Amino acid sequence: MKRCPSCKGAGEVGVFVCGSRCECRTIVCDVCGGVGEVTEEKARWILDGRRAIEARRAMGLTTREAATKLGLGLAEFCDMQFGRADPAPLLKAFRIEPTREEPLP
Ligand SMILES: [Zn+2]
Repeated sequence: MKRCPSCKGAGEVGVFVCGSRCECRTIVCDVCGGVGEVTEEKARWILDGRRAIEARRAMGLTTREAATKLGLGLAEFCDMQFGRADPAPLLKAFRIEPTREEPLP
């Protein structure tokens, strides 16, 4: 298991939410489910997903535009970007080499 790259092992993440009023809150990390650790495969998905986000931004595409371009559903595309699903199709589409070494501590 690897330390969760999203919450850095804390099991929760700070978010800014706006409802009836705006506030800072901590919520259970949705990447590791509050455990603070993820499998090596999932850690790689998260890192590769981040690189896919950077590549998409560099191309000036919104999430919706990129998903449409690749023929993927928006939810599916989001899951890949945030490491909830294997981002391999995004890496292939954006011509990114998958992460080989493990840069996490
Ligand atoms: Zn986490």
